[in-house]
Amino acid sequence: MLINAYGALAGDKPLEPLRITRRSPGAHDVQIDIAYCGICHSDLHQVRAEWAGTRFPCVPGHEIVGRVSAVGAQVSGFKVGDLVGIGCIVDSCKHCPECEAGLENYCDGMVGTYNGPTPDEPGWTLGGYSQKIIVHERYVLRIRHPAEQLAAVAPLLCAGITTYSPLRHWNAGPGRKVGVAGIGGLGHMGIKLAHAMGAHVVAFTTSDSKREAARALGANEVVVSRNAEEMAAHAKSFDLILDTVAAPHDLDAFLGLLKRDGTLTLVGAPSTPHPAPGVFNLIFKRRAIAGSLIGGIPETQEMLDFCAEHGIVADIELVRADQINTAYERMLKSDVKYRFVIDSATLAA
Ligand code: NAP
Ligand code: ZN
Repeated sequence: MLINAYGALAGDKPLEPLRITRRSPGAHDVQIDIAYCGICHSDLHQVRAEWAGTRFPCVPGHEIVGRVSAVGAQVSGFKVGDLVGIGCIVDSCKHCPECEAGLENYCDGMVGTYNGPTPDEPGWTLGGYSQKIIVHERYVLRIRHPAEQLAAVAPLLCAGITTYSPLRHWNAGPGRKVGVAGIGGLGHMGIKLAHAMGAHVVAFTTSDSKREAARALGANEVVVSRNAEEMAAHAKSFDLILDTVAAPHDLDAFLGLLKRDGTLTLVGAPSTPHPAPGVFNLIFKRRAIAGSLIGGIPETQEMLDFCAEHGIVADIELVRADQINTAYERMLKSDVKYRFVIDSATLAA
């Protein structure tokens, strides 16, 4: 079927209205009428070819929520009318150790929601800046939040799981001091989630203007990371710092804040590398630098249910499809509290 979408024809071109083809639902497929789609900084990296390998036309979007509008004959878990979400994964090999462990995000055959290989036209996946998407039921998530909150649930599908998974893996919880660096889409979810898990949360921001707002999100303390004195006051005190910053920066400034055996986990994915950190900053306190990629499907469902139970959604600014390019420019200036979400109804025009 032909549907409306928004995407780019080249890395140096703005996004524009496109018509794209979706497959008809197969036996195991769920067809979703998209209601809202969040704008992740990864969308910008990919569509502007800041990361290698972007194929054009590129239709980004992997924070998708909507209602089921059709299901294949073999689908057992979903029915027409259900509220559902699609995150960053639409397929994987389904039989490697990672898939068997429910960690499809680490499968070598993981297919991203956009720019991933597919037999469908045009040969790579096209994402959620579109009216409909058809996905194998294994990768469809159930949404248990009230329907009125649907737009603010969308960012949980990437920003939520990308922060939830490392917070769980490195045991954020009572008695643990957790830092979250970069208060954008990911970072603001990291603060809310670490707070709900019971950790002592410190927000690191480069934006003085976010000081009060970060507290309102659940941060116990806020540090402006450009201020050396404020940083020094937290030396050798963190169990975990989650770094969501979308640009290269000095990692040593954060490593020095970790206590013995503390971990700096990178989730931000800038297109050019961070300057290499000092070895002594690692060996003297047995500190670690780690990375984490989104999360598997079972953990994404766990995160959505945790958020529904704790009343957690993203703080969003709803935009029309024709405002996506402006939203990208504002995201680059950290001028959004904290996630743009596209109202997919505006794709109809
Ligand atoms: P975002 O909304 O733009 O937030 C990034 C934040 O980083 C900004 O709000 C800003 O916070 C801080 N920052 C400081 N200096 C910056 C600079 N020079 N340029 C840009 N940001 C700067 O982005 P996001 O959607 O949260 O994504 C963050 C990063 O994570 C991106 O690189 C994205 O591709 C990546 N990502 C990774 C995964 C994964 O699985 N690992 C998943 C999704 C996204 P302050 O104003 O508070 O300083
Ligand atoms: Zn994302």
